[in-house]
Amino acid sequence: MALNNVKQAPGIAADVLVVGAGPAGLALAVDLARRGVDTLLVEKSDALFPGSRGKAVQPRTLEVLYDFGILDRVRAGGCEYPRMLNWEGPDGTVRGREWDIMECAEATEQTPFPNALMIGQSHLQALLHDHLRGLGGEVVFEAELTGLDQDADAVTARFADGREVRARYLVAADGGRSTVRRLLGISMRGERVDPKPMLVADVILTPDAVRTVDEDHWHMWPGASGGGASLCPLPGVPRLFQLYAQYEDVDAVPDATPEGVRKLAATRTPVTADQIAEVVWASEFRPWAALAERFREGRVFLVGDSAHVHSPAGAQGLNTSVQDVYNLGWKLGQVLRHGAPAELLDTYEQERQPVAADVLGISTRLHREARFGRQPQRGDEVKQLGIGYRGGPLASGGAGALEPGDRAPDGVLPQGRLFDLFQGPHFTLLAFGVEPPTALGDQIHVHEMSPYDTYGRGLFLIRPDGYLGWAGETAEGLAEYLAKTGITPRGSGRP
Ligand SMILES: Cc1cc2nc3c(=O)[nH]c(=O)nc-3n(C[C@H](O)[C@H](O)[C@H](O)COP(=O)(O)OP(=O)(O)OC[C@H]3O[C@@H](n4cnc5c(N)ncnc54)[C@H](O)[C@@H]3O)c2cc1C
Repeated sequence: MALNNVKQAPGIAADVLVVGAGPAGLALAVDLARRGVDTLLVEKSDALFPGSRGKAVQPRTLEVLYDFGILDRVRAGGCEYPRMLNWEGPDGTVRGREWDIMECAEATEQTPFPNALMIGQSHLQALLHDHLRGLGGEVVFEAELTGLDQDADAVTARFADGREVRARYLVAADGGRSTVRRLLGISMRGERVDPKPMLVADVILTPDAVRTVDEDHWHMWPGASGGGASLCPLPGVPRLFQLYAQYEDVDAVPDATPEGVRKLAATRTPVTADQIAEVVWASEFRPWAALAERFREGRVFLVGDSAHVHSPAGAQGLNTSVQDVYNLGWKLGQVLRHGAPAELLDTYEQERQPVAADVLGISTRLHREARFGRQPQRGDEVKQLGIGYRGGPLASGGAGALEPGDRAPDGVLPQGRLFDLFQGPHFTLLAFGVEPPTALGDQIHVHEMSPYDTYGRGLFLIRPDGYLGWAGETAEGLAEYLAKTGITPRGSGRP
C-alpha cells in the first residue's frame, strides 16, 4: 500500500497512526488489528529492518506471542540459547571455558515458557508482519513522518513527500532517534553506558569456516587485539552468525563496510576475510541508557526505543518495547471501540514508565558488570516475568493468593488451560470457589474453575494483557473497576 492510497487530511484517515514498523510498531498493529481498531502503520524505509540486533525473546514476551497466536511459528523459527565458548591462547585458537549465559529453568504449570528463545530481530519482525497481513493489516512503506500537530480531536501528521494524514491517536514506535519525540520536545534523560564503541554485523560464513567456528556455540574471543569479539550462530539461515566487537580505544571509528567487517573478523577471530561469504548487515553503536521524561503528549504516545534506550546487555530493549505496546493496545481498543474514559490512556505512562526505569537499571548494571568472555549468567531478572503493576492505577481489590497488578499465571485445569482461556482481546473473569456474577457482557469471558492454589479462592479479573486487574471474594467493587475500562455490565450497570 502506498501513502497516496490513504485518505489525506482534513478527514480522519485512521483511529491510530503507528509510526515505525520495528518490533514495537508491528506488535501494536497486530494487537490493534485483532481488536478491530482502524490502524495505519507507516515506515520510512522501503522494507523491514534487515538485521538481527535484538535476538533474545524473553519468557514474558513469549507469553505475549502465545496470546497473539504466533508462538508456534516463532519457536519453529528460533532455537535455544547456545552455550558460550571462550577461545584462548595467544592467537585465540584454543577452545577454553564453556558456560550458559541464560539460566535454564524447567517449565512449570504456572510458567510454561521459562527460557529465552533466540531468533534474529529481522526474522521475528517478518513473522509479526506476516501475522499482521493475515489479520488484514499492512505496512505503508516509504512514508517518513516529518511533522505533526494536534488539536482536540486528532493528530495531523506530515510526511516527507508533503502528504498529510489525520488520526485520532498517534503512536511513536520510531526508535531511539525518534522524530516524533523530537518534534514534541520531549527530552531523554540518560547516560553513556560505555564509552567504547561497538560494531554488530550479520555475516554468513563459508562451510569450511564452520568446521572451526561451529554452529553449536556462541564463540567469544575476549583477548583479541583491539578489543573482544564474538560470533553467535543465528537460527533460520545456514551459517549465519551475529558478529559483535568492542573497541578498547574510545576514539576508534568502527568500519561497518563489508570490507571493514571482513578485516575485523580476520584480525580478531580465526575466521579469515574470505571465509565470510556475505555481510548481510552491519552497524556501529555506543551503548547508552536513556528514558523519555514523558511517554505521552496529548494524543501522542511514545513506545519502545522512542521512550527508552538500553544497552544490549541482558536483552531487554526489544522485549520491553513489545511489553509497552501490549499495555497500550488494549487501552486504545477500549477507548476507541468501547467508549472507555480517555483517562484509561493515562495509565499507560503511569504503568510503563516505572517499569522502563527499572529495566534500564538492570541492563546498565549487567553491561557494566560484564567483561568480554566473562558475562555473568542471566537469571530471573531479565525474563520480565516478575514485572507487574501492583499499587498502580489499574490494580484494585484483593482475594486469594495473588495481588492485583501481578502477572496472571498459567494453569491446567479441567475447564481448560488458563493461557488458552486468556487468549484473545477480551477480559477474563475466573471464579474459584465462589459464584461468578452474571450479565457482564461480551467483553468478559467468565469461567467457573476448579480449585487451584496458585490463585486461591475468589473472583479474579484478568486484563487483556494478562495481569490481574481486580480481585474480590464477592463481586463488590467489580463494577467500579470495569467502568474505568469502558465496560458497563448489562442491565442495571452493576454486576
Ligand atoms: C546491537 C544491538 C543488540 C540488541 N540486542 C537486543 C537483544 O538481544 N534483545 C532485546 O530485547 N533488544 C536488543 N536490542 C534492542 C532492540 O534492537 C531495540 O530495543 C528494538 O529494535 C526497539 O524496537 P522499536 O520497534 O521500538 O524500534 P526500532 O526497531 O528502532 O524500529 C523503529 C522503526 O521506525 C522507523 N522510523 C524511524 N523514524 C521514522 C519516521 N520518521 N517515519 C516513519 N518511520 C520511522 C525505522 O525505520 C524503524 O523501522 C539490541 C539493539 C542493538 C543495537
